[in-house]
Amino acid sequence: MDSAQTALFWNNIVSLLENEMTDLSLKTWILPMEPVPTKDGVLLLSAPNDFHRGFVEMYIPLIRNAAQQISGVDRDVRIIVSGQETPAVPEVRPGTSDLSASGNGLNPNYSFANFVVGSGNRFAHAACVSIAEKTAGNNFNPLFIYGGSGLGKTHLMHAIGNHVRQRHPSCNLVYVQSERFVNEFINTISEGSFDSFRNKYRNAGMLLIDDIQFIEGKLQMQEEFFHTFNTLYESGKNIIMTCDKPPTALSTLEERLRTRFSSGLIVDIQPPDYETRLAILRRRSQDENVQVPEDVFDYIAANIATNIRELEGALKTVLYYSMLAGELSVETAQEALKDLVQPASRVKLSPDAITDVVARYYNMSIEDIKSSRRSKDVSNPRQIAMYLCRTALNLSFPEIGIYFGGRDHSTVMHACDKITSEISSQNATLIKDITGIKKRLSL
Ligand code: ADP
Ligand code: MG
Repeated sequence: MDSAQTALFWNNIVSLLENEMTDLSLKTWILPMEPVPTKDGVLLLSAPNDFHRGFVEMYIPLIRNAAQQISGVDRDVRIIVSGQETPAVPEVRPGTSDLSASGNGLNPNYSFANFVVGSGNRFAHAACVSIAEKTAGNNFNPLFIYGGSGLGKTHLMHAIGNHVRQRHPSCNLVYVQSERFVNEFINTISEGSFDSFRNKYRNAGMLLIDDIQFIEGKLQMQEEFFHTFNTLYESGKNIIMTCDKPPTALSTLEERLRTRFSSGLIVDIQPPDYETRLAILRRRSQDENVQVPEDVFDYIAANIATNIRELEGALKTVLYYSMLAGELSVETAQEALKDLVQPASRVKLSPDAITDVVARYYNMSIEDIKSSRRSKDVSNPRQIAMYLCRTALNLSFPEIGIYFGGRDHSTVMHACDKITSEISSQNATLIKDITGIKKRLSL
C-alpha cells in the first residue's frame, strides 16, 4: 500500500475501533499513532514513544481484528517507536540507567531539559548545571551529591555527562557506577595488572562516579581511589560523586578520603514537595503524550510522597490501569494504587491535614481559613473544615473552636449543623466539594 492507501486503511480501522473502545482510550492510545506504509502487507504503526508502544501492544488483537474486517485479510500488526527503524525495539525505560547500548553508560533520557527543578533539588541542580557548562576551573571540585533513593541523583549526573559529551566531545568523560568500579578493580587484582584500570581512570577528563557508597569498607579499593582522586584533582579535572548519604556518614571510609570528598561542594537532594511532585507528573504525562485530569494528578501527588521513582511508577500504574478500566478518574487511580498507597503514607488525619487540604481545594491559605474574616468565600471552606474535624476526627465543639482561631463553640455547632443540613437538602456543589476533599484525605 502507498502512503495514501495506508492512511485511508488506518482511518477505517480507527472508525471501527471507535465502537470498541472508550473515547479516552482511543484518544490516549490509538489516535497518537501513525500508520507507516509497508510492502509486505504488515500493518505497521508508529507510536510517539516507547512507553506508548509498550502499552498499546495490548490493543494489537483488537486492531488486527478491525484490519481483517476491513480488508478481509489477516495481517500482522506491528508497532514501532517513531523515528526508530526496527520493530523489535527493546524496552527502554527511563528508570534503567545502565545503558551500555550508548557505549558510555550514560542514559540519553536523563537531561537537564527534562529535570524538574523544585525546592528539594534546586541547589544540586544549579551546581550540576554550573559544572556541565564550565568544565574547567570551577570551584565545585569535587562535587558530592547525596540524598535518598529515587530522588534524581543519577539523573543529574547523567545530565552532566550528556551535556559535556555533546558540548565537549573531546573531553575524556568517564562515567561509572561504583559497584562496577569495584568489580573492575577486583578483576584487575586477579589479573595482576593495574595498567589498564589506572589508564582508564587516571586519564579521565572528568570522572563521574555514581553511588560511591559501594566503596565503603573496601580498603584496598579506597587506597586505589585515593590516588586516582589525587591525580585528577591535581590536574584540575572534575570529579563528581553521588551517594546515598553524606561523607560524614560513610562509616568505613578512610579519613583522608572523607576529607577529600568534603573538600569541594557537598549538596543534598531532599524529597520533592507537593508542587514539585505535581510538576513532575505533568511533565511525564506531557512527555508520554497522555492527557491526565487534574484531580488524578492531585491524587497521585498527594499520596505518593516518598520519591520520584515511585511517583513515576505510580503514574504508569494508573495509566495502565485506566487503559484496562476504560476511564481515567480519581476512582481508577485509587483502585490502581491501592497496594502502593500504604495506610502509613496516606495523609495522616489531623486538623492540620484537613485544613491544609480544604485550603488547597479552594485555592486559599491556611491563614485565610483560620482568620477572622467572615466573607462567604472564606467562611464556607472554614465551615467545611470544621465539619470534617467534627465528623472525621470526632473533636469536641470547643476543641474545634480553639483550633480555628479561638472561636466560640456555638459558632462551630452552627457550622456543623449548617453543613449537615445542606448535605441532606442535596446541595450539589457542596456535596461535590466535600466528596472531592474527602477523597484527597483518603476518607
Ligand atoms: P537516584 O539516583 O537518586 O536513586 P534517579 O536519578 O535514578 O534517582 O531518579 C529516579 C527516577 O526519577 C528517574 O526516572 C528520574 O528520571 C526521575 N527523576 C528524578 N528527579 C527528577 C526530576 N527532578 N525531574 C524529573 N524526573 C526526575
Ligand atoms: Mg542512582
